[in-house]
Amino acid sequence: MELKICHLFPDILNLYGDRGNVVCMQKRLNWRSIDVSVTGVSIGTPLKAADYDLFFIGGGQDFEQEVLLSDLKGEKTAEIKAAIEDGKTFLAICGGYQMLGAYYKTWDGQQCDFIGALDLYTIGHKDRMIGNYMFTCDELGGQSVVGFENHSGKTYLGSGLRPIGRVLSGYGNNGEDGMEGARYKNVFCTYSHGCLLPKNPVLADHILKTALERKYGSVDLAPLDDGVELAAHSYMERRLKST
Ligand code: GLN
Repeated sequence: MELKICHLFPDILNLYGDRGNVVCMQKRLNWRSIDVSVTGVSIGTPLKAADYDLFFIGGGQDFEQEVLLSDLKGEKTAEIKAAIEDGKTFLAICGGYQMLGAYYKTWDGQQCDFIGALDLYTIGHKDRMIGNYMFTCDELGGQSVVGFENHSGKTYLGSGLRPIGRVLSGYGNNGEDGMEGARYKNVFCTYSHGCLLPKNPVLADHILKTALERKYGSVDLAPLDDGVELAAHSYMERRLKST
């Protein structure tokens, strides 16, 4: 088996070690002797979405998001939308998550029209939502996911989307409706940055399995020794429960 990962804008959208999520997926596939390739596609490089199985988009400040806008429009938007509708797997973090939605109005009034692949929009606020946080993941039997968020944007989901889960501690999508992230077909969006997959190996495998099963049908992933990862998860879970 082989998984082809496309890392979109790796040189521009990479806050708080977001690239670590790609390394984590690569390693978990390597350890199971599943072939994996990672290809970066950034400004000026055409995106041929049909060449890939899984797409990763990290986070970026408002500035970086504005820098990307003209490149994202047109051909890349059409390729991303088609890949999403075709059931390709996406993991999009924070700024990358916002960019899959309709628009982002920054706290100082700049309107960024994004690609509109998902029915969601984001409004910036002067007070940022920062810190370690924790949420449930509905499709993992409600088990907790721990992560780190830092955003000024408050994201609101339209009726066609469901969240990844419910906020247990922290802010999540907007600090108001208790929702975290977005799910649509095989798209996973979250505000949680670089430590997401390393600290939540069950979620990492769920995303990898989603991509592999679209390609190969039913797939069983061999178990790995996740002792260290699960200890990190439990430590943070205990810390957040006590606050
Ligand atoms: N620019 C966005 C915000 O502040 C995203 C930030 C990020 O990716 N951390 O809301």
